[in-house]
Parts: sequence; C-alpha cells; structure tokens
Amino acid sequence: MKDIFIKILYMISCIFFIRGIKLMGKTPTARKGNLLSSVGMLIAVITVLCENEVLGSWNSANWLANGYVWIAAAILLGTIIGAIWSKKVQMTGMPELVALFNGFGGLSSFLVALTQYLCQKKGDSFTAVSLGLTIAIGAVAFTGSLVAWGKLSGKMTFKGWKIPAKNAVNAVLCVVGLAAIAAYSFFDSVSVCESLNAGQLGIIVSSAAFLILGFTMVIPIGGGDMPVIISFLNALSGLAAAFAGFAINNTVLVVSGCLVGASGLILTLIMCKAMNRTFSSLLFKSFGGAKKKAGNGPVKEPKAMSVEDAYLILEAAKNVVIVPGYGMAVAQAQHAVKELCDKLEANGAEVNFAIHPVAGRMPGHMNVLLAEANVPYEQLKTADEMNPQMNNVDVAIVIGANDVVNPDAINDKSSPLYGMPIVNAHEARTVFVLKRGKGTGFSGVENPLFTNDNTVMLYGDAKQTVTQLVAEFSE
Ligand code: NDP
Repeated sequence: MKDIFIKILYMISCIFFIRGIKLMGKTPTARKGNLLSSVGMLIAVITVLCENEVLGSWNSANWLANGYVWIAAAILLGTIIGAIWSKKVQMTGMPELVALFNGFGGLSSFLVALTQYLCQKKGDSFTAVSLGLTIAIGAVAFTGSLVAWGKLSGKMTFKGWKIPAKNAVNAVLCVVGLAAIAAYSFFDSVSVCESLNAGQLGIIVSSAAFLILGFTMVIPIGGGDMPVIISFLNALSGLAAAFAGFAINNTVLVVSGCLVGASGLILTLIMCKAMNRTFSSLLFKSFGGAKKKAGNGPVKEPKAMSVEDAYLILEAAKNVVIVPGYGMAVAQAQHAVKELCDKLEANGAEVNFAIHPVAGRMPGHMNVLLAEANVPYEQLKTADEMNPQMNNVDVAIVIGANDVVNPDAINDKSSPLYGMPIVNAHEARTVFVLKRGKGTGFSGVENPLFTNDNTVMLYGDAKQTVTQLVAEFSE
C-alpha cells in the first residue's frame, strides 16, 4: 500500500513538472510555471524521505548510518551555498553560473551511479547499462561544464590549447568508455587480476575516459559558440539524471531528466539555428575562434552625435525599434530604457523591441531584464518578426548590442559571423548606437554598422545616455 502511495506522489510531482514547464514556455506565465515546478520538486523530495530505504535507517543505532542525517546535512549545505551564491551573482554572471549548475547536475548523477555500484546494486543488464550511461553522460556534463564555466568567467582561458586530431581523440575516448561500460555490464565477475574484476575495471576506465572526453570536447570550442554548448551540456545533465532514474528505479528522476534533456536539446537546436550552426558542426568541428578582422585601406571613423542632437531626431520619429544587447545588461539600463520607451510613446511614436535569440550572455537574457523593468510582453518581438518591417523604422536604437547587429554576418563571406541571422538594424532610416567606445562584441569582430552613413554613435555608458535622453524629453 505504501509503495503505491509513493508512486502516486511521484506521479503528482511529475504532473507539476510537466505543467510547470509548459507554463514556462510563455513569458507571462513563466513565473507561475516556475512556482509549480518548485512545488513538484518539494513533493518529490518529501516522497524520497518516505522511501523504505531512507525510513529504514531511522532507528539505526549508529547515527552515521541514519539517512536523514545525511539528507538534512546536504539540504542545509546546498541551501546555504545556493542562497549566498544567487544573492551575490550579477545578471552578467548568470551564464557561467548556469554552466556550473549543469556541471553539478552531471556530477550528482555520476555520483549516484558510483554509489549504486559501490552498494553492489548493479541489478539486471538493463539497469547495469543505464548505470554505465549515467556515469558516461554525467562525467562529460561535469567536466565539459567546468571548462565552459572557466572560459565564460575568464578564470581559465585555455588560450593556445590545441588538441591534435581532436575528433580522433574524442572517438577513441568514446569507444574505450563504451567498451568499459559493456565490460562492466556483461562481464562483471570475470577476473582481470587477483584484486580486480572486469566490472571494477570497467567502472574505473569508463569514468576516466568520459571525464577526459568532457575536457577534450569543450576546450576547442570558441567563445562565440559557448551559448550553444552550454545548452547542449544542460541537455546532457538532464539525460544523465534520466538514466540515473532508470538505474535506481525512480520514476520522478526519469521524467524530470527527460524533460531537462529534451528541452535542452530543443534549445540547442534553436540556438544552432540562431547562430547558423549545424548540430554536427557543434560536435565535430573546431569553430568559433573568431579573430579580429584586420581592415584593408583607410579606416572609416564612426560619426559621434550629442544627446541633444539625437533627441531632436527621436522627437520627430514615429516608429522606433530598440535593439538591446549585452551592454544594456552591463549598464543595468533596462529601467531607464523603459522610461525612454514611455516618453517616446507619449510623444506619439510606436516602440518595439527586437530581441535576438543570443543577445546578451544567456538565452532569454534580454527578455528577463526587460520583463524586470515592466516592458509589456507584446512589445518584445523576435528578430524574425521585426526584420521585415525594418525599412519603415525611423530610428533603430542599438543599446549595447554589437554581434547581433553586425551586417557582415549577411554580407561578408569571410566574416567569422557569416551566416548568423541578425537584427537588420542597418536597414532603419537612422541608427543610434549606444556604447562606451570602440570595443568589439563577444566574437571580437569589427562591426561595419558603426561606420554606415545612416549610423550615429552616442558614446558613453548606456544607462547614462538613455537617462540623458529621457531628461531631454522631460524638459
Ligand atoms: P556583444 O557582446 O556583441 O556586444 C556588447 C557591446 O556592449 C560591446 O560592443 C560593448 O562595447 C558594449 N557595452 C559594454 N558595456 C557597456 C555599457 N556599460 N554601456 C554601453 N555599452 C556597453 O553583445 P550582443 O548582445 O550583441 O551579442 C551577444 C554575443 O554574446 C554573441 O556573440 C553571442 O554569441 C554571445 N553569447 C551569447 C550567449 C547567450 O546565450 N545569449 C552566451 C554567451 C555568449 P564597448 O566596450 O565599446 O562599450
């Protein structure tokens, strides 16, 4: 009876997860989706505490053998670290935090599988293969995410690191790792030497091979392609959890792992499309190490304009598009941008936002910031929605965006960005670019938009410049 009750509780928590993730698909319902998923997680955690194996340890004479002590300690430690970290993290530091979380997800599944093995709970062949795949995928997700975190946070640059014959090395690691899983799954008790059987050797070799594979897979990937790889690692951490669920026979882990794995994979494909990459090139090619383009001939200088003159143009504009980018996040200009938006609308202009899928440093970065500043969801348009109308736009205000508005991505085949869909801000009648100086974007590529005849630069911190524009409207 108790087992059935536990299964029902797991099912209820799965329903909360599925409903939650559905609601997260749309910005207006995302908060509710988040809340529902959290409730689902709470139900799952409470249900785990009622599992026979945990309950059975309650009366244990040795407190170290009491499962509740360890679970309580883990929850306490995790809560303290999580609370401090999420309070401390800046919005601009989110991508590396997400990368690290993916890594910890992979590590947890990896450790669950190892513990399961050490407790001699290998089970039938299906369970054994699931356990082996948990180790494989969890290990890749862990070390791959560590490298992604190191690269994004600038703590490890891996500059100049080249892995010769990268694909061959990765293929060998993969084959060796899978062979080790097969040895562990099907020839467990075959003795290799006096103190080692095939199962133990299989676990050691597969763990080592896949931990190394995580490094060799992610190290050659250039900064510009990091968003896609982070999303892929997220999918892997979900998949590892799903396999861990099979290995320990836990329904909720299978369902939640599959949800994370599938949504991570869908996001990976969406981002590949947004950056004009194929999924296979993500995995097998060394790409994304964008170099600064050296210009030939005389260098054209961008035209700077004062805020006062820019205001005169804006005051006459009837159709304005704002293109936010990473610089808006750095400047924390979103509230000032909302004020400017209100002023423009009060002045009779139609204002929309053109959001590129990889603007900023994490998926949805711009949407989150603008939602925080109460910009109505209907005004947040995708690049695909806005591009066909760009010819009719009086002023495109590019706020701290660079790569996502680089026309070379559609005009110059030699550009490292070539093929990446962009927001066609250059097609607007006038383009204002708000940035501090001549810094390049994340890819390190120069942007010819800044020297176009219809572009003017408003130099300075984006928040200050936007605040000054708002002040001009108020005078
Ligand atoms: P970019 O990184 O291309 O450009 C940002 C620009 O903002 C810079 O040119 C910088 O110029 C300017 N800037 C920085 N600080 C300020 C400030 N305080 N005020 C005003 N301007 C400022 O940003 P995009 O959003 O256009 O492109 C995102 C890039 O990041 C893409 O290449 C994408 O692939 C990559 N990426 C995206 C991720 C994602 O998931 N969205 C994750 C990781 C990478 P200056 O220094 O002169 O001010």
